[in-house]
Formats: sequence, C-alpha cells, structure tokens
Amino acid sequence: MKELLFGTAGTPLSAKKRGSVEGIQRIRELGLGCMELEFVRGVRMKEGMAEKVRATAEEENVALSVHAPYYINLNSAEEEKIDASIERIYQSARIGALCGASSIVFHPAYYHKQDSEEVFERVSALLGRLASRLEDEGIDAVLRPETTGKPTQLGDLEETLMMASAIEGVMPCIDFSHLHARSSGEYNTIEEFRGVLGKVEEYLGHEGLEDMHCHVSGIEYGDKGEKNHLVLRESDYNYVDLMAAFREFGVKGLVICESPNLEEDALLLQDTFRNTEM
Ligand SMILES: [Zn+2]
Repeated sequence: MKELLFGTAGTPLSAKKRGSVEGIQRIRELGLGCMELEFVRGVRMKEGMAEKVRATAEEENVALSVHAPYYINLNSAEEEKIDASIERIYQSARIGALCGASSIVFHPAYYHKQDSEEVFERVSALLGRLASRLEDEGIDAVLRPETTGKPTQLGDLEETLMMASAIEGVMPCIDFSHLHARSSGEYNTIEEFRGVLGKVEEYLGHEGLEDMHCHVSGIEYGDKGEKNHLVLRESDYNYVDLMAAFREFGVKGLVICESPNLEEDALLLQDTFRNTEM
C-alpha cells in the first residue's frame, strides 16, 4: 500500500441502494478510499456479482477487503464445526479474490477455558494448512485473524502478531477498539498506541506497518470486554491520538470504520488523520 485509506464496514448508509456496487460508488463520492465487504452472515455473493464488484472497484479506484462470517470457531469441540469454519473462510477468500479483495478478516476462535497456548497451536496449524491450500489453488488471499473484543476469544495483540509472523499468508487485522474493550479501557493513550505499533514493527518489520488492516470505532465495554459499537464522539475512544500515532509510524493500508454511523466516522478519522501534523 502506498498510503492509508479510510472506509466503511459494508455499504455506506447514504448509498442509494444496499448493494456492494452502489456502496463502492458511494465510497468514491464521499471521498473515501476503501470498503469492507461484509460476508458476516454467510458468503452469499455469486461469481457474476463478484465480477461486477471487481469492475466497479477498479473503475472507482476503491480498495476492498472481506469480513468473513461471524460463525467461525476454529477451536470448536465438534470436528464438523471446525470444518465448516474453515470452509467459510475458504469461500470468503475465493469470492473475495474474484472481487479483487485480498484481505480476509475473521474472528478465529474461542478458548473454551482451555489453555491459551494449546488453542493458539491448534488454530495456527489450521490456518497454516488453509493458507497453503489457497496458495496451491492460486487464490490471492491474505488471512487476517482479528484482535478480538472479549477475553474469552483467541486474539489478543501478541497472539495475533505471533500468528502473522509465524505463518506464511497470514497478516493481522488490528481492531483497535477491540483491544480497548478487551482490556476494559487500556490501549487508549498515545503511549499505548505507540506500544501497539511498535509491537507490529517488532514482529513484522516496517513492511508490517505499511501493510496494516485496521478496524476503528467507538465502543462500549464492561469487564467481559466488548458490548457494542458506538459513534466515536459518543464514546471514550481516543481516535485523535490514534491518528497521530498512525502518522508518526508511517502506517499504510486500510482503516475500516465500524461505528453505527459508518461513513460519518470514517470521514472523521480520515479528516483527523489528514490534519494531524507530526
Ligand atoms: Zn470483526
């Protein structure tokens, strides 16, 4: 990535129609740069539509990514559920690639009160196998396990970065609001943001900072982590300093806004980033 692009999780609310094609066109009208295709309730997009999405994104110069279904748990006690989870990520990657979206974001697993290192090893092995299968089939996809919002879910910062550094074809999705919610309020000062970006650099090198995929929104949380997303200005989230840290570290890639007002906060983040002086 040459720059840092801002966009929405799914079609902007102000698009004329709910479709992905209309969403991409609206992203361009708004002056944003990217959009995440939300396959969160299942991969329902057909190949013909994926081709249209790709053509529109190329024409409008909008970068795309994919959020895979929520129903994914690579640490399920039931073998069929693990297979189904792998299949959901695989289908997200396959259709995503047809759309021209290479980053495939997903929430990897629950710990189910098991030893976190064992869960980590189990999930890493599955992702390694899936990444090689995608590579063998010529599907251009980067698997991006997300930093998750609850302490019961695999995916703290360290685990996410370890997976990315250890497995070829895996990179992180850093959901900054999840980090904040998961820790019930940490990860919200300029020093903490520098700490996160420093860790990304430590694990993935400067290339890691130049190939970032981030989620940012306001968020409500309690001692069990994430509750729901909020509009940035109605939350305690310190997005101003996050944008300053992004600039300081030369972060490039995609920032996807998941606030309830989608494009309004995506524009707020973009404006804040652009107006931040070093
Ligand atoms: Zn997510």
